[in-house]
Amino acid sequence: MDLGIAGKTALVCASSKGLGRGCAEALAAAGVNLILNARGAEALDATAVEIHAAHGGISVAAVAADITTEEGREAVLEAAGDIDILVTNAGGPPPGMWSDWTRDDFIAALDANMLTPIALMKACLPGMIDRGWGRVVNITSQSVKAPIPVLGLSNSARAGLTGYVAGTARQVAKHGVTINNLLPGSHATDRRASLDRAIAERQGIPVEEATKQVWAEIPSGRYGTAEEFGATCAFMCSQHAGFMVGQNVLLDGGNVNATL
Ligand code: NAP
Repeated sequence: MDLGIAGKTALVCASSKGLGRGCAEALAAAGVNLILNARGAEALDATAVEIHAAHGGISVAAVAADITTEEGREAVLEAAGDIDILVTNAGGPPPGMWSDWTRDDFIAALDANMLTPIALMKACLPGMIDRGWGRVVNITSQSVKAPIPVLGLSNSARAGLTGYVAGTARQVAKHGVTINNLLPGSHATDRRASLDRAIAERQGIPVEEATKQVWAEIPSGRYGTAEEFGATCAFMCSQHAGFMVGQNVLLDGGNVNATL
């Protein structure tokens, strides 16, 4: 399917690895010019080179910066220029226990997973509105639909972002700009591997055993892939998705047991 977005420019945050990289790869395959971002310059530059080599005819720039800081966002936005497609993403908060989190822990989670995407949208939406076209996809989590007990910081921060998007998406839609959220369930990335290591340590079992336990809870019986995730993201950024407004699209292999 031709996604109709060749020649557009996308900023994909936190994209040297994992789900962000999956989104960048799928947009590159659709002919979209990329600005990639992550903190670690080495992995980021290697990803930029690999994506550029795999997809001719597009430009790929890389800005090493912490997207959760004001300086980091300024550096990325300045390098990016006019952005047609914004994919927000950052590392997720650490797991823990509801009784242990301090105010500082909550502020850090809110900064990374709620206020950072909001700041990026505030920066990019006016240009998209002026040009009469734009796509925003926020990578959030299945924890928005069904809370994950050990990820209370994520449950809280992402719920706040979801509320902001629900209200804002409906105000910008008339300008040809859509904002939607993409909710990953368990996907095979470094983040998932570290969560599996934590389960294994807590239970004193091998990591492979911990992974099998998680798979047993997922109707698909496996983790999702970054490629599947990226393909959905690219569709949500496509011309075909122009009537999709303020939605929360869940990719979880059926893990959230709900009718709607
Ligand atoms: P990942 O494999 O650990 O990759 C994270 C990527 O983000 C890396 O490129 C990392 O590079 C970059 N990054 C992290 N913090 C950053 C920051 N402050 N500024 C700029 N770049 C940053 O993680 P993932 O599995 O793709 O997860 C992506 C998001 O989806 C996370 O918020 C996660 O909580 C959420 N999620 C994932 C799953 C899953 O199963 N994978 C499920 C639900 C939700 P650097 O470290 O070099 O910065």
